[in-house]
Amino acid sequence: MILGGTRDGRELARELLDLGHEVISSLAGRTKTALHPPGEVRVGHFGGSTGLTAYLGQRQIDLLINATHPFAAGMSENALAAASQAGVGYLRLTRDSWASRPEAANWLWVPGHVAAAKAASKLGGPVFLTIGRQNVAQYLPYLAETRVICRVVDPPECELPERWRLIQDRGPFSEADERGLLAEERVNVLVTKDSGGVDTAPKLSAAKACGVQIVMVSRPTAGGETVTSVQDALSWVDAQKG
Ligand code: NAP
Repeated sequence: MILGGTRDGRELARELLDLGHEVISSLAGRTKTALHPPGEVRVGHFGGSTGLTAYLGQRQIDLLINATHPFAAGMSENALAAASQAGVGYLRLTRDSWASRPEAANWLWVPGHVAAAKAASKLGGPVFLTIGRQNVAQYLPYLAETRVICRVVDPPECELPERWRLIQDRGPFSEADERGLLAEERVNVLVTKDSGGVDTAPKLSAAKACGVQIVMVSRPTAGGETVTSVQDALSWVDAQKG
């Protein structure tokens, strides 16, 4: 079973199906416009690690691959515990962190969203906020009076201040697109989280080129054996045979 909601999760499902494996992908059902992977898909919460342990038993799952987003900390904790409880092989597939990029030393690394909001408020706007929709509300007390360009796939549930501009777009965004937006809005600070990978990285190069300060939210720590590519996950599955 693959815990998904990511491009890697969809790609892994496709590759495993092509190799003749039985695959169930699980999605939380929170993103209204979620892209579904090929093969069997189940949607919705399990009910904590106990619920997931029961599901692993009911469906006689052999291997559990956690391909959720690097910031899906609750699901990752539950998945590791449930796999151990059910005696099922566990692997974490997560994209490479951006911490290894050469310019990462110039970013302001913060441990969470409140710290990011405080830092952005201190640095001053306009602020380009690309942290997904779930944590937007944490920025409101600090940035209500600041010009903020908030880019999300699905709109946040909270009401946004008048000075904020909401951009609802899944991308992909090229470096030229990102530079265009940074220049058009005269952005001073980019606030983002260390999602890693290449898909959403052009904003980082664009910010560097435009002299925009980056405030980067660090990843939560994850336990268990970890790989950073679909290819390595396939090799792991292959090694579990017998
Ligand atoms: P989270 O905070 O770690 O998860 C909260 C709860 O949601 C989990 O305890 C679990 O509920 C349920 N859940 C999460 N992922 C699930 C899955 N794949 N299948 C079934 N239940 C799931 O996770 P999140 O950050 O809200 O992420 C939710 C989903 O969105 C994940 O599939 C993730 O890959 C995707 N996503 C997240 C982000 C992000 O920035 N966090 C970005 C892009 C996509 P129970 O404990 O009740 O089972």
